[in-house]
Amino acid sequence: MSPAETGRPAYPLTRTTGPVPEEARRDILSDPGFGKHFTDHMATAVWTPDNGWHERRVEPLAPYSLHPSAAVLHYAQEIFEGLKAYRHADGSIWLFRPGFNARRFARSAERLALPQLPEEDFLTSVEELVRADRAWVPEAEGEGSLYVRPFMFASEAFLGVRPAEHVTYSVIAGPAGPYFSGGVTGITLWVSGEYTRAGRGGTGAAKCGGNYAGSLAAQMEARRNGCDQVLYLDDTGGDGNLEESGTMNLFVVTSAGELVTPGLGTILDGLTRDTVLALADDFDLTPVERPFSLTDLRNGAADGTVTEVFAAGTAAVITPITAFKSPTADFTVGNATPGKHTLAIREHILDIQYGRTPDTHGWLHRVV
Ligand SMILES: *Cc1c(COP(=O)(O)O)cnc(C)c1O
Repeated sequence: MSPAETGRPAYPLTRTTGPVPEEARRDILSDPGFGKHFTDHMATAVWTPDNGWHERRVEPLAPYSLHPSAAVLHYAQEIFEGLKAYRHADGSIWLFRPGFNARRFARSAERLALPQLPEEDFLTSVEELVRADRAWVPEAEGEGSLYVRPFMFASEAFLGVRPAEHVTYSVIAGPAGPYFSGGVTGITLWVSGEYTRAGRGGTGAAKCGGNYAGSLAAQMEARRNGCDQVLYLDDTGGDGNLEESGTMNLFVVTSAGELVTPGLGTILDGLTRDTVLALADDFDLTPVERPFSLTDLRNGAADGTVTEVFAAGTAAVITPITAFKSPTADFTVGNATPGKHTLAIREHILDIQYGRTPDTHGWLHRVV
């Protein structure tokens, strides 16, 4: 059937004539790290007010030619997504809830005054790129994956401050190794006293590059203090409520069997967060979305009513958080070792993603 018959946009493929040689690709796949190696192709589409989305294609990965006045370089009108393609033991390749990413991309676009990309465009572009570069999806055993990065930016050459009238959408991809290659270990969060990530009415719920630019100073502060990541509090002042950790959403497990996470609003609506909430019952935990203050966290960690804390995001899936540091206090949670619910939920999500357990929620989406 033609794309018109299926109602799907077409992203016709122009194959590269200079792919990364097979031996070099195998070398990369044996230790891909994250974010430093890219596949042979990219998907792209362009938007203008007159023509809407057009020039859809999958083509050889190549640098852009961008005018120095391109609006994104000055005003950061940009959004992105992050998802993974997983190879199962039988060689098939799958995405995990890609519709969630497509819908979130549309919401981010709305907040950044970028044009809406239809969900079908998002899905087709991601699928076609993964199909073209299927050889780059790591083998099932090692729990590696192909990280897929859709993004959209203001490519109009114009310094006036208004939504751009030339917008570029692209998808690139690169292999990613297992996040914890040497066993799952807990990380320490730096409780930033100086920086917040977002405020009411801001862009905290959008997945936009600007949020990350603003987070780098806090990340450096965390590093200077010997911590792995930042714990952001909300802007209510005083001790504040937990928000998220900047690239991951937060969960607290209590001795009463609650799985608490901050409600949506100024935080990012994480797909992994949503997945964990949906699975809570299977682990005899009651999912609860409500504010959780730093004071409650500190007291709970001390008196044992907070038993586990973990972070959730596509890159690392589930990361145990075993210690907190702030300018005024240091404390640990759960004997400073990863909790049992944390590890069990992590394993279960990975089992679904790699096809090792039945996908009862219909979350997997086959590409190859
Ligand atoms: C992407 C992201 C997350 C995690 O979301 P997932 O959909 O689970 O990957 C959390 N916080 C921020 C700020 C993010 O950008």
